Amino acid sequence: MPRPRSSRPSKAALRTPVEHPAKRSARRPAPVALPDDESARDFSARLRRWFKRNSRDLPWRRTRDPYHVLVSELMLQQTQVSRVLDYYARFLQRFPTLEVLADAPPKRVMESWEGLGYYARARNLHALSKQVTGPEGTGTLPAHHEELRKLPGIGAYTAGAVSSFAFERRAALVDTNVARVLARVFAPTLNPKRPRDLTQLWTIAESVLPRTGTATWVHNQAVMELGALVCTARVKRCDVCPLSTVCATYAADHAASKPRAKRKAPAR
Ligand code: SF4
Repeated sequence: MPRPRSSRPSKAALRTPVEHPAKRSARRPAPVALPDDESARDFSARLRRWFKRNSRDLPWRRTRDPYHVLVSELMLQQTQVSRVLDYYARFLQRFPTLEVLADAPPKRVMESWEGLGYYARARNLHALSKQVTGPEGTGTLPAHHEELRKLPGIGAYTAGAVSSFAFERRAALVDTNVARVLARVFAPTLNPKRPRDLTQLWTIAESVLPRTGTATWVHNQAVMELGALVCTARVKRCDVCPLSTVCATYAADHAASKPRAKRKAPAR
């Protein structure tokens, strides 16, 4: 009897930030063509329409508080949404602002993270709160992704996420879900797991952003949501995907499964 499929998301479905590898990639693959303006607009519009009808109602999507967004983004890395929900609410109840977190003893911060794993995230967050609220800090998180990247534990993905989700800036972000969706739709020859292909996936991510920061907020949430729910590492649910008519992988899969037309027998 076939074994029932687990409903738990695979590790690959979890949010895994992808660093922009431009500076460390020595071997560059041949560049793939970037989507033209019309394709980019169509891609983003389809995603945003889909998101408005199908997105999950999650607490970090209801806030624009930069600190709260940052806490959610750090907690969600490599961790299932269902697990993060409790931790997020409890953590913010104990440490509602950056100042309260900065004043807290390290032991209390680590206790609040206990069970989530990847404890460097909590240590970095605590260090960040002290830096931002300390005598040299500005007291608040910066909006620009380049400034965010200077803070402890903030990589390219997290900087883009905080800039977009808290400040509604026009910032790109790429995690494993986003990389997979972009590769499948625009560049199936790129492998999101191959560091040398990631530069191009970041470039594609930047090239398909909508014009405004507000639309970018929805766009970024939507592409991540589609990667988590529809176009996952384990399964492609193309039958319910809003991108099927513009997706290169769908076209290729479909062409491959079409029966070949029978050749006519030569006339005798
Ligand atoms: S059509 Fe299929 S392969 Fe393409 S993005 Fe949608 S789910 Fe993924």
